[in-house]
Amino acid sequence: MQEVVLSLGSNLGDREKFLSNAVDLINAEIGDIVKKSSVYETSSWGFDSFNFLNQVIVVNTSAKPLELLDIIQDIEKKLGRKNKSKMVNGIPEYHDRTIDIDILIYGNEIIESERLTIPHPKMRERDFIMNPLRELKIAN
Ligand code: ADP
Ligand code: MG
Repeated sequence: MQEVVLSLGSNLGDREKFLSNAVDLINAEIGDIVKKSSVYETSSWGFDSFNFLNQVIVVNTSAKPLELLDIIQDIEKKLGRKNKSKMVNGIPEYHDRTIDIDILIYGNEIIESERLTIPHPKMRERDFIMNPLRELKIAN
């Protein structure tokens, strides 16, 4: 079993509902939810659009890192996520999304592969991640 920290974000449609459906699916398909932060409303980051609702959760899972990524991407699809972020001329291009689930921390593991970077490389520069992590006493 590993303790993993996931971030959830939604800025399209019924954002509350997408977050709570994501939490339910994570609980069913990934593992028991140990802790949940409050839901934070934040401005879109990296592109100009609707505000996000963000939340961070801690989950116990027996899924290996890449299995975990497959499951979260499957949950994103189930919840209507359409576009994937991609680099355009070296600049990340973000889109509105019904749900984004990112893996922030996976136990003590450090992973740098084509599909997965853990700890999440941009978390320190994103208040919408750091504030909920502080609330859960995972960061200071
Ligand atoms: P973003 O979350 O940056 O808006 P996406 O959700 O579209 O972008 O994910 C783009 C790619 O990021 C995914 O296909 C996945 O392979 C990769 N990725 C790398 N590290 C992680 C991570 N820690 N958590 C989630 N996705 C990751
Ligand atoms: Mg993502």
